[in-house]
Formats: sequence, structure tokens, C-alpha cells
Amino acid sequence: MTSSLNPDAIIEAVESVINRSDFEPLHAPQFEGNEWKYVKDCLDTGWVSSVGKYVDLFEKMLADYTGTKHAIAVVNGTAALHVSLKLAGVVSDDEVILPAFTFIATANAISYCGAVPHFADIEFSTLGLDPEKLARYLSEITEMKEEGCFNRITGRRIKAVVPMHTFGHPVDLDPLFEVCVKYRLELIEDAAESLGSYYKGKHTGHWGKLSALSFNGNKIITTGGGGAILTNDTILARQAKHITTTAKIAHAWEFVHDQIGYNYRLPNINAALGCAQLENLPEYIRLKRNLAERYANAFADIQGVKFFKEPPNSQSNYWLNVLILDESCASYRDELLAKTNQCGIMTRPAWRLMHQLDMFSQAPRMDLTNSEALSNRLINIPSSPSIVSRTMEVNNG
Ligand SMILES: *Cc1c(COP(=O)(O)O)cnc(C)c1O
Repeated sequence: MTSSLNPDAIIEAVESVINRSDFEPLHAPQFEGNEWKYVKDCLDTGWVSSVGKYVDLFEKMLADYTGTKHAIAVVNGTAALHVSLKLAGVVSDDEVILPAFTFIATANAISYCGAVPHFADIEFSTLGLDPEKLARYLSEITEMKEEGCFNRITGRRIKAVVPMHTFGHPVDLDPLFEVCVKYRLELIEDAAESLGSYYKGKHTGHWGKLSALSFNGNKIITTGGGGAILTNDTILARQAKHITTTAKIAHAWEFVHDQIGYNYRLPNINAALGCAQLENLPEYIRLKRNLAERYANAFADIQGVKFFKEPPNSQSNYWLNVLILDESCASYRDELLAKTNQCGIMTRPAWRLMHQLDMFSQAPRMDLTNSEALSNRLINIPSSPSIVSRTMEVNNG
């Protein structure tokens, strides 16, 4: 079957949803709550740096919102991943499995531990790690020893798996968790994109021993830059707080540190922003889910392309909306990217796959057919929550 795709029809469908008068960014932050008030409070009181009440409050609010026992605020999502991997026991020369289809931070954090990223394929229904394909692959290449799971080809231990919830859509966590149990692998969720996304009624981040969030400027809520570690393990939570705050032993005046720690603290002024943003998160998610529904309707009858909908068993935050071109229309991708960006509608292709980057080209990997197919056919379209509030205002006169 050959299908055709008309770029102008796609632009028209996007325009019908976003109703713009101006340049439309991919994802713009919104500061319409208590942001000014809380940040001003930091300036007025002088508490702008690495300690202050907003850090504690932000951590408590994050734990409450996600339903995890502990949240530890850190300076960015990459740092959250680095410390999560370290506390899960990843050491130099271990291998860690991750999707080839991810943002660079996942692979970088593994490298910071001296470990080797090992790339696995994704499935079309979630855009995340394919548990079945991973299980089959591990059964072929690994052998179990007392110290864990070993790659028979490289001789290295495989210590952990880091799934990533792509654009907010949850990975199929239950079967993935089973694979990890069977092969004695630690599960660490890269939940940087999935704050507010649920799998089988539970917030993402619960399946990992530790999980990482990001509050970078383009994420669903932002602290300027920032991140957090989620965990239900009280001992790990205490260690996470300790080593992200220079491993200093609490004392009124003495400086004693009991190991090499990190200065990964989130400043109070950023946490203040985070508290205000988190208060509005339920509203952002309502708006974003509404936006996704509008896109789904607008694209229902457009040829050659499908609007990506949340996987079964999940409720997604729809952080970044996704169009997937039909296989036979993949060649239209670059034209579509050029046309939309030229007319002021910001769109983006998927990330360059990790194994196609110079520094990871020699890293171990499985067959990556799905990742390669999807990365050539995927386009992100404007996803700001303000699109819906703006168009509601228009509709209400
Ligand atoms: C944003 C993001 C991170 C973390 O990024 P930071 O900019 O360090 O906060 C990690 N993984 C993925 C998949 C991301 O999208």
C-alpha cells in the first residue's frame, strides 16, 4: 500500500487546534500562580541558596503528589539519575541497559558512574523499552552468577535497567519489573518527562528502586533548572540527601564530611518556583490532556499520519504531543519539519539515537529496528498548556 501525505493538511490541522496569533513554541512554561510571591519571599528574607524552607516544602509536596515516601530535590535531572544509579550499586565497568531512543542525559548519567550504556529497543505502543524483546535478548546473551547477571559477550556485569517514559507516556512497567527480578537487575526509572503520568493507577517512579524527575525549563513544571530523586526506601533516601549535599555531617559549626559527596543541591529560590509550579500541576495536566484530545480529533481523518495516544493501562501527562508518520510516508518528515518551523509553528524530530552518536557508537546494543524506524517517523508538535486556556478564552468571548 502506498499512502500519501499532504504537509499543508497537517499544518491546517495543527492550526485548527492551536489558534495562534504568533510564533508557537514547542512547550512554554507558565507562571500564573504564586511564583512571584514565593520567589520574592526568598529575596526578601535572603534565603536564596542551598538551604531554606522551600527546599523542604518542595520535597514534601513532591512526595505527596507522586505518592512516594521520599523526594530529594537536586540541581537537575541528570544529577538525579547519576545519584540514583550510584545508590543502586552501579559501579565502574558495569553495564546498564537503557533505550537507544532517549535524551542524552540517561546515557551520560550511566557514563558518569564509569559504567557502560547498553542499548535496548523500544515498542511502538509505549515508545519505551520493550520488555518482551529485552527478556528474549537477555536469555540469549547473559549468564547468571553469584554476583549477578553477566554479559557473556563482553564479560561485564549487567547491573541495572533504566526505562524512560517517553514524552510522558509510561513504559509497560509490570513485565519490565518481572524481567528485572528474573535477571537480578536494579530498576531505575528515568521519569524526567512523566511527572503526573500514571501506570495502572500508580504514579510513575514507584517501580524503580529510585527514580529521577527533571524540572528543566521545557518540562511540565519548571524550577528554572532542577530535578528530584523519588524512592520508597528510607535508607536510600537518607543516603541520597547526604551525598547530594556534600556528605557533610550535621554540626553547628564544624565542617566534617564522611565521603566524597556532590554539590547537587537545589537552591531555595528554585525550589520556591517549584512549589508554586506544583500547585498548578493538576491544572496543567487537565489542559494538556484536553489539548491531546483536540489533536486526536483534528488528526483522526488526516492521511499518512497518526496522533500518538497514551498506552493501555496508563494515564499520561501528554508532556509533548507526538505525530507518527505512516511507514510509507517517512520521507515527508524533513519537509514537514521545514514547513512548520518556517511558518512559525515549532516542531522537532526525535533525538538522534544514542548509538548513532560518536561517543556511544561502540557501546553494546541489541537489534534496534523499532527505535530506528520510529526516530525517522516521529515529530513533536506544540504542547503548551496555555494553548487550551487561550482558546477557551477565545471561545468564551
Ligand atoms: C530532561 C530529561 C532529563 C534530565 O535533564 P536535566 O536537563 O538534567 O534536568 C533526563 N532524561 C530525560 C529523558 C529527559 O527528557
